[in-house]
Amino acid sequence: MTTNMTSQDLIALEDEFGAHNYHPLDVVLSRGEGVWVWDVEGNKYLDCLAAYSAVNQGHGHPRIVKALVEQACRMALTSRAFRNDQLAFFYRDICQLSGFAKVLPMNTGAEAVETAIKAARKWAYTVKGVPAGQAEILVFSENFHGRTTTIVGFSSEDQYKNGFGPFTPGFTLLPYGDADAAEKAMNPNVAAILVEPIQGEGGIIVPPAGFLKRLRKMTQEHGALLVTDEIQSGLGRTGKLFAYEHEGIRPDIVIIGKALSGGLYPVSAILADDEVMGVFKPGDHGSTYGGNPLGAVVARAALAVLVEEKLVENSAQLGTYAIERLRKLKSPHIKEIRGVGLWIGIELHASAGGARKFCEALQDRGLLCKETHEHVIRVAPPLTISRQELDWALEQLEAVLGGDSMGAQDPTGN
Ligand SMILES: *Cc1c(COP(=O)(O)O)cnc(C)c1O
Repeated sequence: MTTNMTSQDLIALEDEFGAHNYHPLDVVLSRGEGVWVWDVEGNKYLDCLAAYSAVNQGHGHPRIVKALVEQACRMALTSRAFRNDQLAFFYRDICQLSGFAKVLPMNTGAEAVETAIKAARKWAYTVKGVPAGQAEILVFSENFHGRTTTIVGFSSEDQYKNGFGPFTPGFTLLPYGDADAAEKAMNPNVAAILVEPIQGEGGIIVPPAGFLKRLRKMTQEHGALLVTDEIQSGLGRTGKLFAYEHEGIRPDIVIIGKALSGGLYPVSAILADDEVMGVFKPGDHGSTYGGNPLGAVVARAALAVLVEEKLVENSAQLGTYAIERLRKLKSPHIKEIRGVGLWIGIELHASAGGARKFCEALQDRGLLCKETHEHVIRVAPPLTISRQELDWALEQLEAVLGGDSMGAQDPTGN
């Protein structure tokens, strides 16, 4: 459906009928192709958020769209009461690509995190021998694992939790990046450590080198599982297939989502070997849409694009280039540039007055970025971005952040 309504009309309509649980930039998008998106007035933007890394393969990738359309016409949903003829191929592809023995498919990221929590707890009771009801999972401050009541219950962000309790017990919150604190918290009831290798929603927080390696070592020594949430960091975003590879470790459970379906349709999953995945017996867990044939073909196509178009390699190369170039930028506003691969956080000084107005100035120049927390601009374009397109994006960032244009009258610096 196309519309003759303006952005302002559509925003008013949305505000009238929709819950106000988001505060988006006021850009109403109607079309996307590769790294580019267009609003209803026809303005063109480079998408530097890529739907929180769900669109690593670029908007409307023809191969993934084709897979989706063809399968939608053949068969979309069987439920898991019956088998379907597409699921096995997705299982095989993701296991061969990741090197894990087994996969369990879900839909959204939060559901996959819940699945990992259930797997870890059941493993603790049935394999490790933790007394009933005593399993503990160690988690970290500034985490983001989704929005279910169990997951927000172990968030350190007040707004995610306030008004939504009571919460699920059994989680211990520790400072992110502090391996000593994790070591101290280890005890016989610990089922797992759940960690983001790099915190995306936390503000592209890269922990100290060796942090994951130490978590791996202590979980092995204490007989607990290491669970990495790679929903945002995985599938190429950091220049490796999985961010944990930067530390040369292998977790026991990996949680994936977002780019697993290239932004076309929600598909998430957990990956594990037999000892852990074997805890699930028929009837223990499930989802009506999880593992449906439409999701299976979309995910397979999205993974094939990732591999065949060498998006992981492109992320590594262009990410290193972009970070180096941004670090050379002289700006009174920038406190720190951090990131790995095409996943970059530009943290501004408090004196800059917040990242949002910079994102709005970037929007005026045709670059869509989203502030993360108050002071961080996140730069995370689709991994299909070319060097030329990236150069253009960096020029816009340099123009808005360089010099003192943001303090002057004209917010675009013209
Ligand atoms: C986005 C995200 C989630 C939640 O995924 P949804 O699909 O929004 O439920 C969980 N963990 C991380 C690290 C994420 O970035």
